[in-house]
Amino acid sequence: MPALLEIKNVVKNYDGKTPVLEGVSLELNKGEVIVLIGPSGCGKSTLLRCINGLEAIQAGEICLEGKAIDYNKKDLTGLRQKIGMVFQSYELFPHMTILDNIILAPTKVAGVDKENAKREAMELLEKVGLAHKAKAYPRELSGGQKQRVAIARAVVNKPSVLLLDEPLGALDLMLRRQMQTELKKLQKALGITFIYITHDQEEALNMSSRIVVMRNGKIEQTGTPSEVYDTPKTAFVAEFVGGANLYKEGEKIFAIRSEHVRLGVGDYAGVVTENSFMAGLSKVKVRLRDGQEITSSHMGMNIDLNIGDEISVGWDKNDMVEVEGEK
Ligand code: ADP
Repeated sequence: MPALLEIKNVVKNYDGKTPVLEGVSLELNKGEVIVLIGPSGCGKSTLLRCINGLEAIQAGEICLEGKAIDYNKKDLTGLRQKIGMVFQSYELFPHMTILDNIILAPTKVAGVDKENAKREAMELLEKVGLAHKAKAYPRELSGGQKQRVAIARAVVNKPSVLLLDEPLGALDLMLRRQMQTELKKLQKALGITFIYITHDQEEALNMSSRIVVMRNGKIEQTGTPSEVYDTPKTAFVAEFVGGANLYKEGEKIFAIRSEHVRLGVGDYAGVVTENSFMAGLSKVKVRLRDGQEITSSHMGMNIDLNIGDEISVGWDKNDMVEVEGEK
């Protein structure tokens, strides 16, 4: 059986020369939640826009259920019913009620009769806790409610794949956490495959069944959240995901998670250069004799360490992960 969606060697530029996607390949199976992360400008949004035909690709191929998608077709409506998209900016029609926003595509495009479309829309609104707002207009809703409607509208077509470009990016932290849980539930219940962009690391680790780390138009590493976190392949991934220490020993570079660095005991002598406490986590930065800086973190308030104090640090050899790339 072919994968649900196969992205094969996709190449994209906007100006005929500067590559934005440089041969991106990725396979997705039914029910997966793939989270794309990477620095701003690395090509995440472009990849999503290429998948649903908002942007043309210059080379490569994207297959849905084993068949290459024909992006040259004039009318991509059929494709967009199978591959839906949700943006950070909601994009609801302001002059239409919530219910009408949701039933627009099923009735006008998919030919579902109005009563059935309404029934399905109401079921979805029920699921996202907004049945009581069916007759309201978008302006009467909060940001979080609007995003719930946008999601309901995107899933009412029963797409096989839903592309979500920072869907919760405009919401405050509390609401974002709550919506993550709701989105996960909805995704499980509907069995829709998600490709999800976020710049929130916790959200990425929390939402995904697989994380894809992109850099400069290429995929740097793909794996489960714990694979990417515990065994980064490159120095870039180690630093980008969870900010690991990079420690150079001879010619080799190792990633060492700050929670694995012990303070006060160990083989390396150094001097405290920073001591901070944020969100329940203490972080102490120590400059070692050879000039390398190592951060140690642990839960709870820190014992009184001052900048300039001499201290030794250490870690288990098992917690050193050799990585490729440069420090
Ligand atoms: P990300 O989503 O990872 O932040 P984007 O896919 O938005 O990255 O952008 C990748 C690169 O493509 C950036 O250098 C950006 O400036 C460029 N880019 C994005 N959209 C356009 C566009 N419509 N026209 C020209 N360049 C674009």
